[in-house]
Amino acid sequence: EAYVEIKGIPFLNTTSYELLTQHLYPALEERKNIFMVTANPEIVMEADRDREYAKILREADYVIADGIGVVIGSKLMRKPLPERIAGFDVMEDLLKKADHEQLRCYFLGAKETVLHEAINNIKQKYPQLIVAGQHHGYFDLNDANVVNNVKEAAPDIVFVGLGFPNQEKWIHQFRNEFSHGLFMGVGGSFDGWAG
Ligand code: UDP
Repeated sequence: EAYVEIKGIPFLNTTSYELLTQHLYPALEERKNIFMVTANPEIVMEADRDREYAKILREADYVIADGIGVVIGSKLMRKPLPERIAGFDVMEDLLKKADHEQLRCYFLGAKETVLHEAINNIKQKYPQLIVAGQHHGYFDLNDANVVNNVKEAAPDIVFVGLGFPNQEKWIHQFRNEFSHGLFMGVGGSFDGWAG
């Protein structure tokens, strides 16, 4: 089966390697518009509470099991997912890909200083990567200026670090205004990159 449903959320039944080589890299090459959610148990619980959020997750292209709790849950249901896929690791693989292929990356979220520091560190590790644009994460989710700024950057990959559920809500609301792009919520990853 391609999907394993847990609490109404269809998790992609895949390893990290298959996710990258069979789904994400081809999607980038074909310039598709993709929304990926890396869902940990907190996100699954939030979806259980908030119907609108659950609907947003169901409408994403890929929901990935980010958390051993989700994998254990799948095993208890006898629909085992093969492994945990950490969002932070997927982000790293995508940065590596972007570095190799000069893909345009947009970074949205976190505090201004944190974001700046995170991008500095990313650029140090991946010098060929194109920073198409950046914006801190403290804005009204409906602010048209922010989405216009992202659009003008013509990004191939948009990393959205607003925390859940807001990052998924933002992506869901605006992704269709983009001709292409891989949109991914990255939670507190920019804080991790800032060190
Ligand atoms: N954040 C943001 N705007 C907000 C609230 C939070 O950009 O209005 C950022 C915050 O600075 C942090 C991330 O979102 O970088 C949330 O990280 P957290 O670890 O709280 O969330 P999780 O990883 O659990 O989704």
